[in-house]
Parts: sequence; structure tokens; C-alpha cells
Amino acid sequence: TEQNFDVVVIGSGGAGLSAAITAKNAGADVVIIEKMPTVGGNSLITGGQMNVPGNWVQKSMGIEDSIDVFVQDTLKGGDYLGDPEMVRLMAEEALPAAEWLRDYIKVDFYPDQLFQFGGHSVKRALIPRNHTGAEWISKFMAKTDELEIPIHTRTTATALIQDQNGRVIGVEAEKNGQKITYMADRGVIMATGGFGANVAMRTKYVPELDNRYGTTNARGIMGDGIVMAQKLNAKTHNMESIQTYPICHTDTGVISLIADSRFFGAIVVNKEGHRFVEELERRDVISRAILAQTNQQAYVLWGSEIEQIAETAKVHKDEFNELNRKGMMYKADSIEELASKFGVDKKALMKQVERVNQFAKNGKDSEFNHRGGLKPIMKAPFYMLVAKPSVHHTMGGLMTDTKTRVLDSKGKVIDGLYAAGEVTGMTHGSNRLGGNAITDITVFGRIAGKEAAAH
Ligand code: ADP
Repeated sequence: TEQNFDVVVIGSGGAGLSAAITAKNAGADVVIIEKMPTVGGNSLITGGQMNVPGNWVQKSMGIEDSIDVFVQDTLKGGDYLGDPEMVRLMAEEALPAAEWLRDYIKVDFYPDQLFQFGGHSVKRALIPRNHTGAEWISKFMAKTDELEIPIHTRTTATALIQDQNGRVIGVEAEKNGQKITYMADRGVIMATGGFGANVAMRTKYVPELDNRYGTTNARGIMGDGIVMAQKLNAKTHNMESIQTYPICHTDTGVISLIADSRFFGAIVVNKEGHRFVEELERRDVISRAILAQTNQQAYVLWGSEIEQIAETAKVHKDEFNELNRKGMMYKADSIEELASKFGVDKKALMKQVERVNQFAKNGKDSEFNHRGGLKPIMKAPFYMLVAKPSVHHTMGGLMTDTKTRVLDSKGKVIDGLYAAGEVTGMTHGSNRLGGNAITDITVFGRIAGKEAAAH
């Protein structure tokens, strides 16, 4: 069968939803196709924090920030391999995108709390309600309902269709073994996410990342969009930059959100009871450091002082219960008890915690120079969990221009084809900073929707 639309969006994560809604508001007839039975991709299972320099929460908290500092942090965090022009565009458009999310999509951001991820000079990440992407995917869904944008789930895009001039005019897809052709009068937007769940594809670029590693990714994140565009001679960039997330479930690979207490001062130690890395270091640095420890595992520890501010054990109760049942996380009245549960060297850990408490008091971490400032770990109950790194984000992908048009190997625009989100490889360089994915996918999703609708 054949169906006709102005704009066809492939993928229903944050990039695809931002693009589809924007295109619809610009007057285009839009459809979203999604291969999984459920909507949201990785965007649903993220913590959902979004970096926005100069945001309203920073203003009310008296935190100084600027577009320039955000650009600098982002470029530096990615070893200057991100595209400076695209990073600046992301930084400039972050606030309008966040205001759109807040005022139009009705995403509920906490008004008095911000996150500071590793590599950022200041607290600048807005936090959605309950600290998960579910908040904004559910609000996006409500908006697509209201705007009557159809979302065809269980529908896998398999190929792009070009006319004789090379312009992309549609998408071949498959649903339950049936072929469906989606014609796109104005454009196709690739928003299929990265390739973190595709072991064959990721080991092609980084042999080390084989199936000893789990992944934090949703099942559908297989790099389909990159492969489809490559058939049209699209250029890829930076494919060997694949990020591991340091603190994940040791069996399933799922990202640990409860361990976000780390951003509020929780410490990371090894089996020998010692800290071995700055807890707010870059993800790649922490991941590699953990893999160098006994059993390639680390332990995250915090107490009531930190929990009172971070509230991660409170917010992520289900995660606690699951980890606790499996013997991967405990809550106890003494640190010694936690140490013996995990077989961590008790004496060394107690000494380590004493030092941390001293550093907290002095306001200076003489061991690893913790950039957020360490907090005391003195008050019960205490929390500890075991974790290891898994494959999280693929920084590389398709090359696009500032209008999100996909470029071919000669740097020429492929007419009719747009891309946004993790499928692209423009902004993060060798290493994406925490909270930058949401900014990236929303900003460039909106641009893709606007541009595709206009052509
Ligand atoms: P982003 O953060 O860039 O928006 P996500 O991972 O959140 O990316 O979303 C990407 C979505 O695209 C996922 O829901 C995934 O299942 C979907 N997807 C991936 N490949 C295809 C495909 N070939 N056809 C349709 N949908 C796809």
C-alpha cells in the first residue's frame, strides 16, 4: 500500500517528536513511523535532564551562566571534535527550545533544582518531573494526540526512496511482513537514534565494545537510519566515538538513575575501599577507571546528608527494590555493614570516608579535586550499590548542516533528507556531556521539522 504525507518522520524519540510537532505547526501533514510497539526510544528511559544556559531556574538561584561558557564546556568535553558552528547553534537555541517544552508541550520542570553533570562549569540542567524522560514523552504524546499526528508503531523503515534527481521522496517500510510505501512531498526526517544496541555495528568501529558490555539503550537502537542514509552515499562522522556510561546495572546494563546521587556528592570506591577517580569526571574517564579495578566494578556510597538533597533513593524506589532483591544495592545504618555486604575492605573504606568528611569540611578534595565539592557522609541511613559501565551513546553519525539537511560524501546536501538526534554526529565530539542529548535532540528536532515543512 501507499500513503501520502508532506513530511515523514522516522523514529519516535525526542528528536522525532519535536520534529513532527514543529512540522505540523508549520502546516505540514505529518506521520511518525516507529519500529517498536512503544513510543519514545532511548528518550523515554533517560533521566531527561536538559542543559540550558541562562535558564529561568539558574536566574532564580542566582547562577551565572552564558552561551559561550556552555559552548566551551561542550567542545572541551568532546576533545574539540564537535562542530563549533553546530555546538553554538545548539547553545543559542537551547533556551527557546526549553521554553517551548515548558510552555507549549507542558513539560513539568522542577522550578528550584538543577543538575550539574560532569564536564559542566555550572549547574545548568533542567530536571523534568520525577527525573525521567517519561515526563516529556508522555507530554509529547498528549500533544501529538491533540494535533492528530498519526504514529504508526511496529512499522520499520527499511529504505529511502529517491527520484531521478536524487531527491528523497519517500520511505519504504514494513509492518507485520507487509510492505508500506510512505511518500513524502516535502521531506523525510531521520530520527532513528544511534547504534548502541547493535553489537556488530559498534564493534566494527570499536572492537573492544563487544557483548561483554551491556547497553543502556532501548532495543530498537540499531543504527538503521545511518545504514539507510549510507546507501544514498551520506557521509558519517566520528563513528568510533562511542560512550560508555560508568554507573550501570552489572547484569542488564541498564543505566542507574538512583546512583545520580553522585552528582550531589556520593563517592565511588573500589573493592579495596579506595576512591580512584573524581566522581564528576567525564564518563569515558570514569568508565575506563572502573574497568581497571578489581572485578571491573565500582561501588557508589552516600548517606542521609546527600540523600536529603538528591532524593534519588526516594524518587527511584523501583530501582532500589529491584537492585536490593538481586543483592546489588543495600541501605543500612552503618557503613561497615554495607562494606561487609559487598566484601569491600572495611577498614580502608572507613578511613576513606573519614578523609572525605575532612575534605567536605575544608571545602577542598585533596585527593581528586572534586569539582562539585564533596559532602559529608556521616548520617545514617547509608546507601551503597555495585555498578559497571555499559555502552550508552554513539556520538558519531550522519553529517548535517545548520538546517539539519543530510550531507553526502562530497559535502553536498541530499535533497529532501533531514536528520536530528542521536542519528547525527555533529555536536558531541568524542564524548557527550551529560544533559546535552536532550538539548541536542530538541533543538535540532525543531529545526528539522521547520525546514522539512518549508520545502
Ligand atoms: P533520539 O534521542 O535521537 O530522539 P531515540 O533513541 O529516543 O533517539 O529514538 C529513536 C527511535 O527511532 C526509537 O524509538 C527507535 O525504535 C526508532 N527507530 C529506529 N530505527 C527505526 C526504523 N528503521 N524504523 C522506524 N523506527 C526506528
